[in-house]
Amino acid sequence: MNDCAVELQQLSKKFIDNKDFLAVNNINLQITAGEFFSLLGPSGCGKTTTLRMIAGFETPTSGEIFIHGEPMSHCLPFHRRVNTVFQNYALFPHLTVAQNVAFGLEMENRPRREIQNRVAEVLVQVQLTGMEKRYPRQLSGGQQQRVALARALIKQPAVLLFDEPLGALDLKLRKEMQLELKRMQQRLGITFIYVTHDQEEALTMSDRIAVMHQGRVLQVGTPVEIYENPTSRFVADFIGETNFLIGRVIKRHLDTVTVLVDEQLPVCVSYEDEIALNSIVTLFVRPEKVAIFPANSNESLQGKVEETVYIGTDTRYIVRLTEQSCIIVRSQNLHYSDLHKFNSGDTVKVKLPPDSIRILTEV
Ligand code: ATP
Repeated sequence: MNDCAVELQQLSKKFIDNKDFLAVNNINLQITAGEFFSLLGPSGCGKTTTLRMIAGFETPTSGEIFIHGEPMSHCLPFHRRVNTVFQNYALFPHLTVAQNVAFGLEMENRPRREIQNRVAEVLVQVQLTGMEKRYPRQLSGGQQQRVALARALIKQPAVLLFDEPLGALDLKLRKEMQLELKRMQQRLGITFIYVTHDQEEALTMSDRIAVMHQGRVLQVGTPVEIYENPTSRFVADFIGETNFLIGRVIKRHLDTVTVLVDEQLPVCVSYEDEIALNSIVTLFVRPEKVAIFPANSNESLQGKVEETVYIGTDTRYIVRLTEQSCIIVRSQNLHYSDLHKFNSGDTVKVKLPPDSIRILTEV
């Protein structure tokens, strides 16, 4: 059995009617069977076009798509072992749950008994048995999502494709639905390919993520790899809040490198690879990894608080380090005494832990 559910080989799509615009540019991806895989990137980066090519709604300009080892170039959408779930799930409001789920097989004029059996089977799979006669308006958001899944599962696809299905929901409902969808995917064990521009959504739900930008895949990895070890400035910036500091490498000692930020502040970084003295680099550190202390502490980096914003679980500080650079610090509010620790104008010390800083060689 082939463990690779979907493989994209040098896949490109040029839109001739859009000034030969290269919407997808030479993508290579291997998506493992049973994986929750997200295509993540800003609007217009080519996520939907990639998904539509896998579904067969769009023809690649070059490259090949394999689904469970079979090339798709001559396979019509209808014959592919994939099914697409669209935004807001588009359930038919005037049909019952059972009728919504049966729809795909009804269109194929399959025998009544077969349809009834399949509907009963998929309703068990999505845990909706007993709700057959309800209408979508009589269901919660999570139950409606499961009807949409059942409707997509009725033809036993190997892969389900999702194009921003939760895009129009408010934040709280969206988070509930994300968790529920992830749970269903784990229960069903089916490969999900999920398009989103929401980095938090991709981090919460995915086994692996491909970050796309201008038609290309910049990085593929688990949520932890993508968040903690981005390999480019774009990925670091797109996935969550980030600090970038520019500096010059001034010292190498064993596994650490010292970088002089803005020709003023020496910052020590854990780094094992080769690096040339005097090269200019970008340091990248997440705000929650930076610690903030009173001015009388022993830490060496001093700054001045420019802004404080209370955000419930955390307080977010902007601390000016040099004329050119500020750093964002996110400090957890574990106790009431944490709430008003530092105010605008206060002199503070900050600590950048050497093993939480990454060096990006692009500036
Ligand atoms: P969004 O999140 O906004 O949907 P996306 O990452 O899914 O963005 P695509 O929909 O794949 O992006 O579009 C990629 C680029 O290709 C866009 O610049 C878009 O304008 C262009 N494009 C998409 N479909 C067509 C088409 N049928 N004809 C011409 N250009 C298109």
